[in-house]
Amino acid sequence: MRFLVTGGAGFIGSHYVRSLLAGEYKGAENASVTVLDKETYAGNRANLPADHPRMTYVRGDVCDRELLLDLLPGHDAVVHFAAESHVDRSVTGAAEFFRTNVLGTQTVLDAALVTDVERVVHVSTDEVYGSIEKGSWTEDRPLLPNSPYAASKAGSDLVARSYWNTHGLDLSVTRCSNNYGPYQHPEKLIPRFVTNLFEGIPLPVYGDGRNRREWVHVDDHCRAVHHVLMWGGAGEIYNVGGGNELTNLAMTEQILQLCGAERSMIRYVTDRKGHDLRYSLDDTKIREELGWSPRIAFDEGLAGTVAWYRDNPQWWKAARNASSADRP
Ligand code: NAD
Repeated sequence: MRFLVTGGAGFIGSHYVRSLLAGEYKGAENASVTVLDKETYAGNRANLPADHPRMTYVRGDVCDRELLLDLLPGHDAVVHFAAESHVDRSVTGAAEFFRTNVLGTQTVLDAALVTDVERVVHVSTDEVYGSIEKGSWTEDRPLLPNSPYAASKAGSDLVARSYWNTHGLDLSVTRCSNNYGPYQHPEKLIPRFVTNLFEGIPLPVYGDGRNRREWVHVDDHCRAVHHVLMWGGAGEIYNVGGGNELTNLAMTEQILQLCGAERSMIRYVTDRKGHDLRYSLDDTKIREELGWSPRIAFDEGLAGTVAWYRDNPQWWKAARNASSADRP
């Protein structure tokens, strides 16, 4: 099988590509992969093997139709991870989110259609559903995105649906909860707090810290994406939850403990504009229909993640320097 993976130099996409090349995915043990990545501040070529006989790396934009039409012939599958992914950045500058996430997805899917790619997975997010006070979302719940990031992902999610419904493109969508693990950009909550503590910098907790998120290890998410690619149904949507729900404050306390730091490192800062209170997915469908379930226990996964950042300061310092993110 030949895969094209967009956004394959980012956090989740690079984990997927490394796992694919390591032969970890059933039915794709010898797959070859083309990575297409623009290398924004969030994408790093060094997240992938320097040289691998089954990998071709292309630096380019998912909005570049000519490039996609050139690259795609001969590929069996597209896994579409590429996106602008940081909610805070979408609050201060949304244009790039709509360009890459909506127009980029439309361009990728159109090129996949024209070049007869057999199978596509579009990687969406739980944030498309909005915020839920009680209970959990099933896949048939309406999309009520609140942030510009979530709105752009909801747009791309609906573009995906339209290419299946109108053109019969064999495509499935995954909607996953918050990921954690190695190689995540230090602008995101867990790596930011961990690396702050390594440098003795306080932890900026939004509002009262009571916002609740569900967490899944990146390795479990990537296996879910692969299950969906191989065994998911055309036009079907699959929630990928993981079941580890924590307030941001509880997460912060676990990080403090793992880093051997005091609670006095917490600083409550002005809440994010339009901050969703709670996300929660019902992922019965992927568990029962495709036989996926998470393998990495949260405590173990979080400890492993903290250890990875402790062992790789050169990685996160370079990522932080490459980024223009403000640090309140
Ligand atoms: P990331 O920001 O770490 O990586 C995104 C990658 O896309 C980067 O390598 C970047 O260079 C690339 N990219 C951005 N714009 C591009 C463009 N125009 N053309 C080509 N490449 C481009 O993001 P991530 O956390 O790895 O997320 C990957 C996908 O998973 C996204 O679609 C995101 O919405 C989704 N998702 C993320 C999470 C999470 O917790 N991180 C949860 C659910 C879903």
